[in-house]
Amino acid sequence: MKIDLSLLNKYNVPAPRYTSYPTVPFWKEGLDAERWKQTFKEEFLKNNHREGISLYLHLPFCEFLCTYCGCNKKITNNHSVEQEYLEAIIKEWKLYRQLMNEPPIIREIHLGGGTPTFFSPGNLESLIDTIVKRSIVHPHHEFSIEAHPNNTTTGHLKTLSSLGFRRISYGVQDNDPEVQHIINRIQPFENVQRATEEARKFGFKSVNFDLIYGLPKQTRETIKKTILQTLELRPDRIAFYSYAHVPWTNRVQRLFDENDLPSAEEKLNLYIDGKKLFVDAGYKDIGMDHFALQSDDLYKAWLDGSLHRNFMGYTTQKTSLLLGLGVSSISDAGIAFAQNNKALHEYYESIAKNELVTWLFFK
Ligand code: SF4
Repeated sequence: MKIDLSLLNKYNVPAPRYTSYPTVPFWKEGLDAERWKQTFKEEFLKNNHREGISLYLHLPFCEFLCTYCGCNKKITNNHSVEQEYLEAIIKEWKLYRQLMNEPPIIREIHLGGGTPTFFSPGNLESLIDTIVKRSIVHPHHEFSIEAHPNNTTTGHLKTLSSLGFRRISYGVQDNDPEVQHIINRIQPFENVQRATEEARKFGFKSVNFDLIYGLPKQTRETIKKTILQTLELRPDRIAFYSYAHVPWTNRVQRLFDENDLPSAEEKLNLYIDGKKLFVDAGYKDIGMDHFALQSDDLYKAWLDGSLHRNFMGYTTQKTSLLLGLGVSSISDAGIAFAQNNKALHEYYESIAKNELVTWLFFK
């Protein structure tokens, strides 16, 4: 493929994430809590019976800091934080339940982070049990989780499977030891292999791998090796993300030398090489970083035109109402976006005062 360098350099600039329109930087700061509650109530009334609701639960803790990370996370080894957080997120759910005139019909639950598998299987179970206890789970629901191959245990997979989770997304990123060292994410391939095989054993029918191109120390050779190892495990879906280097907003990215990053041209070649390997191995290019096997629901939804995109990424469950719970979570009520406090202590304070969301934006 011939690369037009002037075109490449023209568009090789960081841009806001494309998960919403308008994108987050264009939202106006402000809050009218009563207006949000009223909007939520009306949209729930309109949509619950028609299509159900989706839930996103943000679980922010991680044991190690990956130096490329742009997520809202809190690094700690102290697992006693789980309890306080669970109490807050469950209280937030109960505050929303008071705004619902009838039991919610749950189409989708997605646990994201942070590292959701930081939480013990027992704590994840009590969280999900509390949410579904007085709700109706839609017959075609989809429960999914983002997981770290290093700390996803047999207990996690067994518990999540028994709760109805059938989709798991592992953060793999890169298998090369030198790349893993510089991004501070030491994750032997054996861990990825074990976690993948065990997930399938416990009935997860869709296993996704997140991979990143453009990381420091990556070369065409190293990424090829990572992808060939990935193909050995044949994940049902692959998200092949571009690394976004924005050290002025993401200070942790200052921890490595920028000279170790591939140039714009090298980075594009990493993507082109990866895409070719996926397509040659039978994956379909869904678009916007995603590849899927033809047997996966993502591809089937793409094929029949029912594929939907929300703040969690691509989904096969189209709902107009997405409720985000937990620190920094974003809700989408069809006509408005709302976001919770991004700082953990502020999130705790607002929930203690029975306050929902911090920012509100009417589309
Ligand atoms: S595990 Fe995920 S959320 Fe946590 S620091 Fe690493 S990339 Fe960020």
